[in-house]
Amino acid sequence: MTARRDRLLEEMGLGPVWRLRRPPEGAAETDADAPRAGATGASDRAAAIMRMDWTELGAAVAACEACKLAKTRTHAVLGVGDLHAEWLLVGEAPGAEEDARGEPFVGQAGRLLDNMLAAIGLRRGDNVYIANVLKCRPPGNRNPEPFEVAQCVPFLERQIELIRPKLIVAMGRFAAQTLAGSDASIASLRGRVHRYRGVPLVVTYHPAYLLRNLPDKAKAWEDLVLARRTMRELGGRVPG
Ligand code: SF4
Repeated sequence: MTARRDRLLEEMGLGPVWRLRRPPEGAAETDADAPRAGATGASDRAAAIMRMDWTELGAAVAACEACKLAKTRTHAVLGVGDLHAEWLLVGEAPGAEEDARGEPFVGQAGRLLDNMLAAIGLRRGDNVYIANVLKCRPPGNRNPEPFEVAQCVPFLERQIELIRPKLIVAMGRFAAQTLAGSDASIASLRGRVHRYRGVPLVVTYHPAYLLRNLPDKAKAWEDLVLARRTMRELGGRVPG
């Protein structure tokens, strides 16, 4: 296992070779201090990630230095929950409390998320997995940069491959745009079912946003009702 993991980490560019390669061709490199990778290196890295099991994925994320967020994080946060969940919830990135504790959606936004889940009969960890697009916290909760998203998204893609959820709920603009492959606003993406690589995808607001914009809670409720109806149509487990 260790030899295989070391080989995968090496292929991902976490070894010395990673630092010698050129930036991705055509990629908007905004991360001045980031390790450099050529187009081949980037696709080798993504391919290596796509072969990882959960143990390897956890080790790779914990050791990842593929963007500058590695320098400011306390913990990289892979995700938490049922590894065979039918429901996959995806947010943007760890916040301060998540960074400190190494778990996604703790603190006030986490409590609101738990309440949202409870409203449709779900509980974190029971048929539910929660992850973020970015595994490390952007300082001051600034918006993720395109380079950071591009570097980190293979980890989420692998999580989705391993979990094989029946339905994905994207929470917040970055998760929604990343998974729906669109630049459109949340307002225009919500209210219908999208697809992420064939998996039905419902878009809603991020709990941290809802804490600041209480009137939009009613819209988030509508989104969850749509998600529950979609899950029922898919033959998944829907409580209540
Ligand atoms: S945000 Fe993602 S790509 Fe950047 S260092 Fe953390 S795990 Fe690696």
